[in-house]
Amino acid sequence: MTVRAAVRLTSFVALAAALAAAAGGERRAPRAYAPEAASDDTLRARLVAARAEEGAGAHFLGTMVLGYLSEHGLPPVEGSLALSDTGLVFRSADGRDQRVLPVVGPLRRSAQGAWRASAVSLAYVDETTRHPAYLFRLDGGVFETDAPGALLDLAAHPAWLDSLTSREWSAERTLVGVSDTAAARSLVTTLMAGAYADSLYTIFGRPAYAAGLVGARGRAAGRLGEYVSSRDSLALDPARMTSVAQLRHTLAHELAHRWQARAGAQLAMLWQGIAPIRDPKRYGYGNAAEHQAEAAAFAVHFLLSTTGTASAADAAVEAATLDHYELLVPGTRTMARYFAMQPLFARHPLRSWLTTGRVAS
Ligand SMILES: [Zn+2]
Repeated sequence: MTVRAAVRLTSFVALAAALAAAAGGERRAPRAYAPEAASDDTLRARLVAARAEEGAGAHFLGTMVLGYLSEHGLPPVEGSLALSDTGLVFRSADGRDQRVLPVVGPLRRSAQGAWRASAVSLAYVDETTRHPAYLFRLDGGVFETDAPGALLDLAAHPAWLDSLTSREWSAERTLVGVSDTAAARSLVTTLMAGAYADSLYTIFGRPAYAAGLVGARGRAAGRLGEYVSSRDSLALDPARMTSVAQLRHTLAHELAHRWQARAGAQLAMLWQGIAPIRDPKRYGYGNAAEHQAEAAAFAVHFLLSTTGTASAADAAVEAATLDHYELLVPGTRTMARYFAMQPLFARHPLRSWLTTGRVAS
């Protein structure tokens, strides 16, 4: 090990201890999910030139990085990432979610030798926040942290990564079979008749027609959901989604398009001065209408997942959480403030803080 590596390792041990202590106080974090997940474009191939560092990776095992994971474009979930010998283990702060993400791709052979693709790359550093935020691309998602520690080293793809037996990319199971129309219809019907859809209707209004399934054309265009304003109807494609969270997010997104079609002037006023989405791979990048629908869906998610905020201390934590939504999808805070004034959220514990900046005691 080089002196530099030894110094870095020491700081990781200290970081891991600090993070372990910080992780003691568990709290509820919003559940997430949504669109676009081309994991192949996170590939960063590298030929294995030197095996000298083999074994060095053992020192990194167990080191932990705290931050927020946004999978498939869904709102961020607070948690920790730890490197294990099988991959990157994500654990949500509320303990409800644990998953193993790949660190490297499958072993590939070429004329020049064997290589493995890296599954972790640094997308960008956002310096508009109080502490610089590091955005890493992982398999099917983005991880945001202000203390990147070992992730920076992983993103540099040290040679020892090639010796890991990390799990490989695998296709996630979808909610229903791709041709199981009956199951898809039943899922959509249940969703639209539930309390979640009712909440959304009070904010965005209710479409004139019952929700349908995305047709062959929409599917070919890769759409998970569609809203057609001339017919005031929407369609969803659960056969292309991997979680209920993704289905719920898509519904909020499509209903937000309904609101957009009817409250254009109001929305234009709210939207003044909102920065564009920074990540070119996030849905809504470079498209104001899609960006607004994402911000509205993020805002609704934030409000619905914080209805149980009990104390001023919790409220302070939620205030920080909203910053992480805002970082990924600017405009979320503005939308959350606006929706907090709607009758649906009249008794929301964060309403006063969102609308006046003061925490109600
Ligand atoms: Zn859309």
